[in-house]
Amino acid sequence: MSADPRAAAAAAAQWLGAREHFIDGAFCPSADGERRQVLDPATLETIAEVAEGEGADAERAITAARRAFDDSDWSRRPAAERAQLLEALAALIERDADALARLETVDSGKTVEESRWDMGDVASVMRYYAARARELGPDAPLEAPAPNARSVVAREAAGVCAMICPWNYPLLQASWKVAPAIAAGCTMVLKPSELTPLSTLRLAELVREAGIPDGVFNVALGTGARVGAALVESPAVDLVSFTGGLASGRAVMAAAARTVKRVALELGGKNPNIIFADADLDRALEHVLEGALFHAGQICSAGTRLLVESSVHDALVDALAARLERIRLGHGLVEGTEMGPLISEPQRVKVNHFVLEALEAGAELRAGGVPATTGFDGAFYRPTLLGGCDASMRAVQEEIFGPVFTVERFDSEAQALALANGTVYGLAAGFFTRDEARIERVSRALRFGTVWVNNFNVYFAAAPWGGYKQSGVGRELGHAGLDEYLETKHIYRSFESSPLGWFGRR
Ligand code: NAD
Repeated sequence: MSADPRAAAAAAAQWLGAREHFIDGAFCPSADGERRQVLDPATLETIAEVAEGEGADAERAITAARRAFDDSDWSRRPAAERAQLLEALAALIERDADALARLETVDSGKTVEESRWDMGDVASVMRYYAARARELGPDAPLEAPAPNARSVVAREAAGVCAMICPWNYPLLQASWKVAPAIAAGCTMVLKPSELTPLSTLRLAELVREAGIPDGVFNVALGTGARVGAALVESPAVDLVSFTGGLASGRAVMAAAARTVKRVALELGGKNPNIIFADADLDRALEHVLEGALFHAGQICSAGTRLLVESSVHDALVDALAARLERIRLGHGLVEGTEMGPLISEPQRVKVNHFVLEALEAGAELRAGGVPATTGFDGAFYRPTLLGGCDASMRAVQEEIFGPVFTVERFDSEAQALALANGTVYGLAAGFFTRDEARIERVSRALRFGTVWVNNFNVYFAAAPWGGYKQSGVGRELGHAGLDEYLETKHIYRSFESSPLGWFGRR
């Protein structure tokens, strides 16, 4: 890797080929020719220029996906054929993993090491759904209510899917949608975040190379307000799978209601990490750091809300503060960088605002709370520890999406549970204890889609992912992630029917 991160970033972006919408197997510019500059968040320098779409571009992509669904045999092919295509795509992602990782890093800011893990996960998600596609069996028979009839339940592709993705895990979040949709036989229009479109464009090239038919996978570039909204509102789209923030998720759900679309929402989180006094504190400290700080805390499941039992509170907080001070920030392409920048300057302003507001409300600054100096112009923010927090603070209730811990004390298991469950979110939670009976009680009592015990932020393709409460609707990954893209059809066939002869005979 180049010693000069700017040169390395330019080289990483140059590897990308086309920078246009991907519609019906071809790259094409926006209808009005508009373009957007894509920035390296670490330097705020332009690394690429891509097409910037609007409603008309979304419509073209939907039309291609509709045609591929309605007028080709794609959804009726044996699922094993689609499994082979997913396996081919996984192999191409593995082949290009290093270059894809560098592209993801210059686009999103995360360290290249993290991006490499992401690419491994993307390939494993493709392979996982290839295996699930092979299991899609024949129609399931039912016991019919008449002797001379046959009833079967068929699982069929849901249709044309709009997939709207966030900037924090551009390719990984896309893979959680694309892989099960291909397995099911759907066609799709994927809209990456306007801030991080690059790895998705490269995915389009790999989709073509893998031999996935034209029109099955399309990419429409642009903002949520223009392209995203057009996808959600289109009557030609059957399903919307959205990953993003709570406010956008509410807007998507409301807009989708007008055409009664199927909607899957993966939204934000405010994820508690509970440290009981009997935990292995040395290990817990490592998991506290790793559970919250990857990608500078810009993870939906970041465990930034610490709940610490009073008797170990001071020891844990002191140790955490000391570790935070030593974290090395810098350009994600530089070896040894432990944390990259936030995605943008507005994001840094927002994070800092949460911190200042908490301090005004009585929190104590134990580490960070300031922009970081790295020699680059990006929105770097020092890992921050706010002690003495309580549940009334906005920093404790709302998703900050930055490297900011809040710490609350508790004195009983019941109090810890009440605090942990006391937000509108229900994405993920973790706790640390050696008490077997408590593990069972607390795992069940936490109202979250994922609960980690003596660990944090472990994801894998077979484990369903999604939120309780306002963290979302539906599930990605696992068998449940495939079910999202399948419709259920009951087919009832009479061989010799016996009509009642009820109407108009007397
Ligand atoms: P965002 O809501 O601002 O944008 C997400 C995507 O939605 C973008 O592509 C955006 O262009 C589009 N969009 C925005 N408004 C829209 C609208 N009205 N109609 C259609 N599309 C619209 O989110 P973000 O800032 O990109 O991502 C961060 C958020 O994503 C955080 O809240 C994070 O917790 C969440 N997230 C959740 C998960 C999960 O699995 N639950 C995973 C990753 C990120």
